[in-house]
Amino acid sequence: MYTAPDNPESIFRRTVATVDLAAFRDNLRTIRSRIPTSSRLVAVLKADGYGHGALHLARVCESENVPMLAVALLEEAIALRQEGITIPILVFGPVDARGVAAASQHSLALGTPSPESIEAIASWSRQKDRRVPIHLHLDSGMNRMGLVPSELPRVIALLQEHPHLSVDGIFSHYANASDPADPFNDEQEKRFVHMVGVLREAGIRTASHHFANSAAAVSGRVREGDWVRVGLSLYGGEPLDYGESRLLPVMRWTTRIERLKEVAPNEIVGYGKTWRASERALIATLPVGYADGYDRLLSNKGEVLVRGRRAPIAGRVSMDLTTIDITGIPGAAVGDEVVLLGSQGDESIRAEELATITGTIPYEVFTSVSKRVPRLYVDGAPA
Ligand SMILES: *Cc1c(COP(=O)(O)O)cnc(C)c1O
Repeated sequence: MYTAPDNPESIFRRTVATVDLAAFRDNLRTIRSRIPTSSRLVAVLKADGYGHGALHLARVCESENVPMLAVALLEEAIALRQEGITIPILVFGPVDARGVAAASQHSLALGTPSPESIEAIASWSRQKDRRVPIHLHLDSGMNRMGLVPSELPRVIALLQEHPHLSVDGIFSHYANASDPADPFNDEQEKRFVHMVGVLREAGIRTASHHFANSAAAVSGRVREGDWVRVGLSLYGGEPLDYGESRLLPVMRWTTRIERLKEVAPNEIVGYGKTWRASERALIATLPVGYADGYDRLLSNKGEVLVRGRRAPIAGRVSMDLTTIDITGIPGAAVGDEVVLLGSQGDESIRAEELATITGTIPYEVFTSVSKRVPRLYVDGAPA
């Protein structure tokens, strides 16, 4: 977990990630306006809120009356409870027998990725005579986690034997919702509906079904009454492969020019001598590197913003430092703000841009910003 720098006095470095709670709140409202009014929103705050800081965002969720949070790990949920977050939390899991006890102690609902996970929950809850809420995770075709059709008879028997198991929800997960035209999305829905039917015939039913992630939610793939589990879109990431969801970036990652050097023609910059000046150049050194999560694959490829203009990375990103070519930016000076992610003037760099260069997805850009980058929380951009 990242330490929230509630005390700015403890921050000495000039590389920070500013998290705008107002932008997060705005995205929550936008997503809510785009799903059926009968739908409920589950805010996914796993991986410390996709690197933004789960606790601060959970508090926004509480004040916005978000009915449920979801995380991947028990530890993530317990950390939120220990900080006083009281709204329902779903842990995707799996958890073992020890985990079931902790989940019960902290009033957490558990996802059930396997029959074994249901068995663990069943035996603990019978032994302790305590009801444990579960959300049955059905595998509708992703073949990763969740119960497959052939496992349903065993699951049904378990549920019938153990009245302590209370099925509070039934859910599945899309494999390729970022491409709304992929017919496999419909195929998964068909398989889900079939499995829900099998369960219902055995007397296992619930009012809450959830399937949609961000991509499905923004592309309208939500059945009336179904809940949605959204993560990326709340952070302003674009969930569709080719989309314009117009959500607000929540994280703005900045640093400042630390050193400025004039470099003569034919001089090199950085490890491996991968950049060479063709003419007289002005090189700025930034106190950020791959140990901060600024991907080394951005070497000689990425751009940053200085004085509202784009400047290319010159040479290799190193562990703590990155060099940029600001030859074309008049007036740039030591101490100037440099934007790695976010906007400055009329220009902006989104996580998708960095992800395209490094061959990944915006999810990984966010979750890679390492714990040594202090998070600063603002509510609304400063005027
Ligand atoms: C991470 C996750 C989500 C959220 O997905 P986004 O694409 O970030 O909206 C939803 N459901 C499950 C099971 C997840 O693991």
